[in-house]
Amino acid sequence: MSKLSNLTIVKAKELLLNKEISAGELVSHYLKVIKDRNKDINAYLEVYDDAASQAEKADEIIAKGGDKPLLGIPLAVKDNILIEGKTCSAGSKMLQNYKAVYDATAVGKLKEAGAIFLGRTNMDEFAMGASTETSAFGPTKNPLDPSRVPGGSSGGIAAAVAMDSCVAALGSDTGGSIRQPAAFCGITGLNPTYGAVSRNGLIAMASSFDQIGPMTKNVEDAEIIFDVIKGRDEMDSTTADERHSKVKERVEKGRIRVGILKYDKNGVDKEINEAMERAAKIFANDLGWEVAEIELPNIKYSVSCYYILVPAEVSSNMARFDGIRYGQFKEGKTLTEDYMKTREIGFGMEVRRRIMLGTYVLSAGYYDAYYAKAQKVRGLIKQDFEKAFTKSGIDLIASPTSPSVAFKIGERINDPLKMYLEDIFTAPAKIAGLPAMSIPSGLKGEGGMPIGLHFTAPAFGEKLLFEAAKKYEHTFPGSKIS
Ligand code: GLN
Repeated sequence: MSKLSNLTIVKAKELLLNKEISAGELVSHYLKVIKDRNKDINAYLEVYDDAASQAEKADEIIAKGGDKPLLGIPLAVKDNILIEGKTCSAGSKMLQNYKAVYDATAVGKLKEAGAIFLGRTNMDEFAMGASTETSAFGPTKNPLDPSRVPGGSSGGIAAAVAMDSCVAALGSDTGGSIRQPAAFCGITGLNPTYGAVSRNGLIAMASSFDQIGPMTKNVEDAEIIFDVIKGRDEMDSTTADERHSKVKERVEKGRIRVGILKYDKNGVDKEINEAMERAAKIFANDLGWEVAEIELPNIKYSVSCYYILVPAEVSSNMARFDGIRYGQFKEGKTLTEDYMKTREIGFGMEVRRRIMLGTYVLSAGYYDAYYAKAQKVRGLIKQDFEKAFTKSGIDLIASPTSPSVAFKIGERINDPLKMYLEDIFTAPAKIAGLPAMSIPSGLKGEGGMPIGLHFTAPAFGEKLLFEAAKKYEHTFPGSKIS
């Protein structure tokens, strides 16, 4: 194994600052990995031609004795996060020629922290999907078994990290798109509290759910990136600074009370249920945490609630892609035909399905029966979490990340309901706006596909997530795939 294999941010920075390697060498190393593997895996849609010159700048700062949190660290970025001057297509034909005219706030902060951007990665079209198969640019394959999907919608990112073609990466999560691909590829993924990270410059899917977050090789790296990108931003009025003293107290006390989510074991892989039982034993016996079972009575409605509210927001957010304001234009004989032709050539099947579902649930005759009711259910699910975190005194809720390990390419793409059920464990936290994280927790059989463990914390409880997840990661090293 070379000293450049499997580098984390901490390790890469140590090598860079000790001048054992240069940022230029690091970038050339990753560009070579991408060249060797990307034709089979299709993780990257584009590798930036200025990666080497970004590295030169980092090396100049290092030579002068400078330091910044991510100085010289090569990152991959999901194709829905804007970087000024670069193409950003959201995995869609609609935006295949779109060039960003400004940096997303998170990208600006990463630049400020010295990071290098290697390229943009494949994703489900406009982040709608759980397998990266709805991308207009072909599916991404799971580097651990190329006959399988890497998860989605941030499947390109998960594959890029898992095939060790960058140090870390930035994804986005609306219903599970950071955490489920992280679980499928054996890496770590954080979905921050709604409002903890600015959405400015993230191409919107469902605005009351979307969040940008890190996808990394370990928990410590996720924390480093989160600390760089978090915080209130005047460009996104839904952002706020952290405000959780109680969480800090709990972390310092070191005694965590973890609630194991009660769920229907029938629809979940046997090995995933076993991994969950093993994790509960590790919490109690090795980590000395208090373990309780927790029931959230309304989360059984999460997937239904999510697939009403999200398409509703999708149908509204997609309206701007009309070839006039945004998107490639196809002219018809009339204005209406302009719209129809443009949207017909620009959008794939899943995006169309969601626009239809969304406009239906928002239509005058059905609004109360679907959209308004789902909003009420959203309230009930939020209350379930609040009760768990206050009345029941639970600090963290643990569950599997997904009901199955990475499935075969083509297995579910024609069965949307089956695909939607992928979100069963990840959607609830999004409905309630809570932070949640997936970390590796063993393999399905020896040499099998990775299994994810999912933690949900109270709002702005990221520190608690990091502390708990770091402890688990150190206690159960078998959770690492590489
Ligand atoms: N699978 C979910 C969906 O298709 C989640 C997607 C996401 O988080 N962007 O909506």
